[in-house]
Amino acid sequence: MKMPLIVQKFGGTSVGSIERIHSVAEKIIEAKNDGNQVVVVVSAMSGETNRLVDLANQIDCVPNARELDVLLTAGEQVSMALLAMTLHKLGYEATSMTGYQAKIHTDSNHNNAAITHIDTTPIEALLEQGQIVIVAGFQGVNHKGDITTLGRGGSDTSAVALAGALDAQECQIYTDVDGVYSCDPRVVKDSKRLPQLDFPSMEEMARCGAKVLHLPCVQFAWKHQVPLRVLSSFEKGEGTLISGEECLNDISGIAIQKDMVLIECALEELSSLISQAQLLGIEVCSVIEETERAAVVIKRDASTKLKLVFAEKIRNSEQVSLLTVVGSRTQDIVVSSHGLLSEGEVDVQHHLLQQQSLTLVVSPDQVDTAANILHKAYIVARETQGYLKKEVHFG
Ligand code: ADP
Ligand code: ASP
Ligand code: MG
Repeated sequence: MKMPLIVQKFGGTSVGSIERIHSVAEKIIEAKNDGNQVVVVVSAMSGETNRLVDLANQIDCVPNARELDVLLTAGEQVSMALLAMTLHKLGYEATSMTGYQAKIHTDSNHNNAAITHIDTTPIEALLEQGQIVIVAGFQGVNHKGDITTLGRGGSDTSAVALAGALDAQECQIYTDVDGVYSCDPRVVKDSKRLPQLDFPSMEEMARCGAKVLHLPCVQFAWKHQVPLRVLSSFEKGEGTLISGEECLNDISGIAIQKDMVLIECALEELSSLISQAQLLGIEVCSVIEETERAAVVIKRDASTKLKLVFAEKIRNSEQVSLLTVVGSRTQDIVVSSHGLLSEGEVDVQHHLLQQQSLTLVVSPDQVDTAANILHKAYIVARETQGYLKKEVHFG
């Protein structure tokens, strides 16, 4: 009978030191001793990818995309080798593999590549021998044999794609929080861990800044029905299971995107600004088109490129943050959210209502306050009302 297979992914903080790599190894051994085949995906040690990006930027503010990928993949290669050595020391057979060795094929979109297919033969051969296989996250190889990366946070996507290709029982994303919360728990202290969250809400949360899961990871898991769970690397617990096709919550959560830039141009230049961004592979997170004003909101780290190309056509650029409320009834809170934020002296520059989300553009120094105000009103208060209703019903 075929042994069950699980994929476990450990993020940067989880492999941030030799001690932590040791604890990760113990978790892997526990899964192996429970009778599973185990494939592990690792990120670079915390801070390492940023350090490498910074080195590249000291040479060029827009470094060569192919070479940047060569540089950045080094981070994951360090973690995978250290983890394999730790497992050996603890008496377990383990082999580490780069994306190239693991035959993770991607398109050629350097710095933000998409996985096209995985040839699982080399991984399966090692699993057959009873080995623990450790794969470097965030990386793959294109048709020319060049190394590619999947975009920041991309190790989650490596894990879920491997889980899909290997038909794993579950893809477990171990990180520095014990699940997906109603908002980033580092910003909103009374955020709630969600024991379960539907795919549409998780997709929208990830798209709008909840970096606990990389957006393509959620999309892949949803499309291929890979059971996906977010768990803590440091504590035991059930974490959050992402499952279900339908968003049943009026309000599921709030996502925050800091480090954004609003770039203003003349109204007649707006479509050209958007096409320039698309040509450069820059995601436009919000478009503002008013009688007097036209602007796009993009990530700050992409703005250098766009500013270089669009240059003198830019009227003004300013740092902003985005706050997105996700749920099936966000259309009902447009007016009240503006009211609540204005009472809290938060200035909303613009809002964008979509089918399952309401995004508000605010200044970076007000975004934490705004998140706390909206979380209290739409998540904590509603939950309390829910409990009250239950008490009435059962009492
Ligand atoms: P890893 O290095 O393990 O991939 P990340 O830093 O990419 O970890 O993601 C985990 C972080 O995501 C948390 O520390 C938390 O600050 C942030 N985060 C943002 N939104 C949420 C949310 N809704 N639920 C949980 N964590 C969130
Ligand atoms: N190390 C990469 C990053 O920091 C990929 C990842 O952690 O998922 O973005
Ligand atoms: Mg991450």
